[in-house]
Amino acid sequence: MVKCTGKSVLKGIAIGKIYVYRKKEFTLVKTYIEDVAAELKRFDQAVKEAKRQIGILYQEALESVGEAEAKIFEIHGLMLEDEGYLEDIKDKIEGKCNAEYAVKEVGDEQAKVFAEMDDDYMRARSADVLDISNRIINILAGVGDDAIKSDEPVIILADDLTPSETIQMDKDKVLAFVTVHGSANSHTAILARSLNLPSLVSTDVALLDEYHGQAAIVDGFNEELVINPLEDVLLDLTAKRDEWISETESLRKLIGQDNVTTDGRRVNVYCNIGGVEDVDRVLESDGGGIGLFRSEFLYLGRDSAPTEEEQFESYKAVLEKMGGKKVIIRTLDIGADKKADYLGLDPEENPALGYRAIRICLNQPDIFRTQLRAIYRASAFGTASIMFPMIISVDEIRKIKEIVEDVKNELASENVAMGEVELGIMIETPAAAVISDELAKEVEFFSIGTNDLTQYTLAIDRQNQKLESICDTHHPAILRLIQMTVENGHKENAWVGICGELASDTSLTKTFVDMGVDELSVSPTYVLGLRKTIREI
Ligand code: PEP
Ligand code: MG
Repeated sequence: MVKCTGKSVLKGIAIGKIYVYRKKEFTLVKTYIEDVAAELKRFDQAVKEAKRQIGILYQEALESVGEAEAKIFEIHGLMLEDEGYLEDIKDKIEGKCNAEYAVKEVGDEQAKVFAEMDDDYMRARSADVLDISNRIINILAGVGDDAIKSDEPVIILADDLTPSETIQMDKDKVLAFVTVHGSANSHTAILARSLNLPSLVSTDVALLDEYHGQAAIVDGFNEELVINPLEDVLLDLTAKRDEWISETESLRKLIGQDNVTTDGRRVNVYCNIGGVEDVDRVLESDGGGIGLFRSEFLYLGRDSAPTEEEQFESYKAVLEKMGGKKVIIRTLDIGADKKADYLGLDPEENPALGYRAIRICLNQPDIFRTQLRAIYRASAFGTASIMFPMIISVDEIRKIKEIVEDVKNELASENVAMGEVELGIMIETPAAAVISDELAKEVEFFSIGTNDLTQYTLAIDRQNQKLESICDTHHPAILRLIQMTVENGHKENAWVGICGELASDTSLTKTFVDMGVDELSVSPTYVLGLRKTIREI
């Protein structure tokens, strides 16, 4: 039996087998080959395998998301039969270049040609050529895709996980995450929490292959990973897990009840989500609405930005599923730990203080307009609100409003139906909290992002695991900024919510209620526990 300690992301217990997850990286180099015939054969076999994989993906997509979404794999299949593409690669191999490099060169050349075309449809094919080329290269180089190959749900043991890796995992196969690095406030941790997975970050465990397949327990209460537990430990923790499950079950009697204190103060309890796949959990846990839809997750784990149509479909699906309940869509908050290579953002010394979120949107309005068009089009299918992240000035809001007005006029001239959309901002920089009196005149609501507000107020990088011990999330400076924001919001009739992780900290619920906070937006996992706390105040 081996015991390791980490930092708990969710108080719960998972029991299962370990799956050691390694990033599959390799360096692509150009080499000179002698045996051209053997290399051509290797290439032909890789193309055949790529077709087989794409065929499977097509079927899976057809069954899970429908014909329209599956079409992309049909296109990939056709591209793999394109004579021009295949012949160009073979020519390079005949020039004695290794197959991997030949595929890379031809893929890049063709992608560039597509990218420079005028037609939107053809331009979008650029990412597809890169995608199929990468698939062939990975097959040639013996690199697996990152899919979890296991018949049963497992405990993922990894060095670290980026939000895009986490988002791409088949969640039905995951019982828990345990990472050697990472902090409890990272987006990967937030994702684990929203999936109700009792996970550990910053764990002192060695990433040994021999652990793969071994029995283990993730104990989120004691912040421990137990590998190969002794019989009595297993029995003990199994009982504790069952107790946790039954306590969670017993909260279900609060479904349908109000979030109201004993003296009659009502607080909205909404949910944070990353995509349409999370909405079922919101409904199951009786969330009153969606207080934070982190739309940037739609942009992660892919080779190109989601189109207006793709975004429209996602927002519409969430709005329809929520059946008229409020859905607050936060516009793209990419940057810092949420990276998308295709945006071509330069590496930065201080990414958290850098080019991110609304700064990108105001500087690259095409990206912003596409998203706004998609949200306004979807607004006809439910109750949509929009909020803007990382605001620091009134000037930003004015610029945003100009773009919003322009997009709305454009859609109106196309006779597109739109609903009433409430506009708000995130208060997650100390600057925004301090000038919240002025900002409140411009918007209908504030949502306080305590994750970033904490990192910027305390000057503590939320990703830095070394600083977690001094990261006092209850620091009086943060609580005062929250109080000030609530008061300033209310003076101008703007409602004020909290959507950072602090919203689910029940030791502060009474403080927030006393401050007059109108809404708390939490992971679906916490809705009923929070309701219980509110009802006992
Ligand atoms: C926050 O900063 O508190 C927040 C809710 O946004 P994110 O965690 O996505 O940065
Ligand atoms: Mg934030």
